[in-house]
Amino acid sequence: MKNTVLATKWRPKLFSDLIGQEPVVTALVNSLDNKRLHHSYLFTGTRGVGKTTLARILAKCLNCETKGITSDPCGECSSCVSIDAGQFVDLYEVDAASRTKVEDTRELLENVQYMPTQGRYKIYLIDEVHMLSTHSFNALLKTLEEPPEHVKFVLATTDPQKIPSTILSRCLHFSLNRITPEVIKNQLEKVLENEKIKYEDQATKNISKIADGSMRDALSIAEQCISHGDNEITYENICKILCLMPSDSVNQLIDLLVNEDIESIMKIIDKMYYQSFDFKFLLEELISIFHQTAIYKITKSLNNSPYDSSIKKLSDKYDEDEIQILYQVGVSNLKDMEFAPNYKSGFEMAVIRMILFIPFDVEKIISQSDAGSAALTKKNTKENEIKKDKPVVIKNNTKKEKSIEIEKNTASSVAGLEGKITIEKNWDIVIKRLDIDAMTKNLANNITYDSEKNNLINFLIDENLLSVVTSKSIAKLQESLSHYFKKDILINIQKSNLSLSTLQKKNENDYNNKIIEADKKIENDEFIKAIKEKFNATSIDDSIQINEQIKGE
Ligand SMILES: [Zn+2]
Repeated sequence: MKNTVLATKWRPKLFSDLIGQEPVVTALVNSLDNKRLHHSYLFTGTRGVGKTTLARILAKCLNCETKGITSDPCGECSSCVSIDAGQFVDLYEVDAASRTKVEDTRELLENVQYMPTQGRYKIYLIDEVHMLSTHSFNALLKTLEEPPEHVKFVLATTDPQKIPSTILSRCLHFSLNRITPEVIKNQLEKVLENEKIKYEDQATKNISKIADGSMRDALSIAEQCISHGDNEITYENICKILCLMPSDSVNQLIDLLVNEDIESIMKIIDKMYYQSFDFKFLLEELISIFHQTAIYKITKSLNNSPYDSSIKKLSDKYDEDEIQILYQVGVSNLKDMEFAPNYKSGFEMAVIRMILFIPFDVEKIISQSDAGSAALTKKNTKENEIKKDKPVVIKNNTKKEKSIEIEKNTASSVAGLEGKITIEKNWDIVIKRLDIDAMTKNLANNITYDSEKNNLINFLIDENLLSVVTSKSIAKLQESLSHYFKKDILINIQKSNLSLSTLQKKNENDYNNKIIEADKKIENDEFIKAIKEKFNATSIDDSIQINEQIKGE
């Protein structure tokens, strides 16, 4: 963003005016006050945090005529004035992005050995220094190794990773902070009050957020709003200028999301499309709301944001894990947005996935972020709470099984998750997670949890199935349970003549139910009915008999 009138006018002229960079300022002030000067400084930080501003203040500190080398330049002597005006002959300001070639650097450094014309020091301010070519860096390095006494270098960059270590090691490195939204908001309001410009609290709050750590951007946006809004900054105006969706509409969207009303959401999205809203920003907004909801779930405190009501609604409707999934779906779709045919369809897909909840490709979403892996411990109770009247209900058994599978794959990276799984309640899950051979699995599937005391777990087994119990499989099961729960576990298996509900039986039942269902379908099939009638056929009776046998068991 270009420097604007406000940004130029309010550019800090002294260290004390600089906001949000206290640690760097303190260090510089101390070294100036103690006259411990370094010959080259490196300022790093994101755009608009004050790197070049800091460099100019430093130039004044080194060249002030009235006060000598000082941390508090007078601002009135000819050096101070000309530096502020950008006309100081001994301050060489270069944008490395536009002068990357080695010839440019040589030309810049040609006169290094000559004494300064006006000031005490010649200052070379090289902005975006990471853009220099390798040859340019080498040329610069030669000077940095043995700089003349009267020369100071100030290098500035947004990307210190790209600077060769040989250069880095010769600079005093200061890392500037991204300015927090609160600090930006305060400063912005101070500026606006001084400029006698009316503003809405929600408006400055929004600008501070969008400025993303950059005071310069905040002032630029404010300036834009002023010129559009008749010398007043309103929230409505900001939304219009930046194509942002007003918070009321975002709340409305969340409302529909909570109610799983896909149809109305699609209508709203269409409407937004014609008002040219920024869908990417909107998705970011949703993600940020999910993030705040996740925090609210734990802290139970709200930030007094326009989305408080939405956060409460989301929190009432979804449990912690589901909020994690919503967040994860949002983030993953945000990445995908660039590949979507357009942002609108990318956003639509995101919302649909959020409502359908666990989509088809959960594993992919989860694998994209380890942090999200805890998300999939679905609570069984939740399964029954789904609204029955909604057209799309994905929360069924396949989802549950799938999520358990994923849990198995990612559990090791999830601290604290293991604590929820017990042999008593989640034997089926535990078995799936154990690394055991078929024989041991067969044993595990046929035993039923009975009781436990300390590390000893008692299981029961049908007396007719004793053949699956071997000392080898018991040993193997003990070993892998101990490994899984990270403590010694002993198991004891007792025979029982009661009818036990084992996993093996459950699996068989599930299988049989499927066959029965399939048979019913065949029986009711109009085509087959017609064939049966026409040919008086009875040939499928065989299969029905088989199933009836199983049914009778
Ligand atoms: Zn001065």
